[in-house]
Amino acid sequence: PLNAGDFAAWIGRAAELVAADADRLTRLDAAIGDGDHGHNMDRGLRAATEALSGLPEDAPPGKVLITAGRAIVSRTGGASGPLYGTALRRAGKALGDAAEVDAAALGSALRAALEGVRELGKAAEGDKTMVDALAPAVAACEAALAGASRDGGATPAGCARAAADAAERGADATVPMQARKGRASYLGARSTGHMDPGAASTALILRALAEVAG
Ligand code: ADP
Ligand code: MG
Ligand code: MG
Repeated sequence: PLNAGDFAAWIGRAAELVAADADRLTRLDAAIGDGDHGHNMDRGLRAATEALSGLPEDAPPGKVLITAGRAIVSRTGGASGPLYGTALRRAGKALGDAAEVDAAALGSALRAALEGVRELGKAAEGDKTMVDALAPAVAACEAALAGASRDGGATPAGCARAAADAAERGADATVPMQARKGRASYLGARSTGHMDPGAASTALILRALAEVAG
């Protein structure tokens, strides 16, 4: 199972991967939005990492995610700040105050994150948003768990790897889509032919989880 330190490491690793790819995220957003997604995500995840350094050692995983989510909401501009902040806070709430997170609990937390994004942003799959990476990721985690639990081998790492792989495929699949939510939707048909920046950042964040979950 994963503990609070693993969740803090996840946020830290996500911050590193996003910082390393911030220029790419910004270029994607410059093509179909306002060119600030790399900056927004870099700033938000740095703020989250900083907020976590102030948490007591014995804070549970749920508290780690709620703290990170709050920092992102308060420090990230744009549509993505409230959406990612809500995702992390919902995931944290779903974990409750358990000290350890097994595969099933991780799957439930990812599911809760997706529901939070959907409620707030009202985007469906196919609208060319982060939902196009997150929804297949959650489904892939759940499928991995269902497959593995038949032989008793469900692990957080199995869920996270399946989720990260599916998120990358989901982000790739946004390229031909026409945006129906967010700034990119203002472009209408001209929004096709580019990857959605939020789907790209979701794939990075889930890759960070897969790395940390081992
Ligand atoms: P802004 O568009 O306000 O500049 P960002 O550039 O940081 O904010 O984030 C843009 C990303 O936010 C998009 O690529 C998309 O994935 C995501 N997004 C925007 N609106 C929505 C929505 N209603 N539901 C889900 N995701 C959305
Ligand atoms: Mg933008
Ligand atoms: Mg903006």
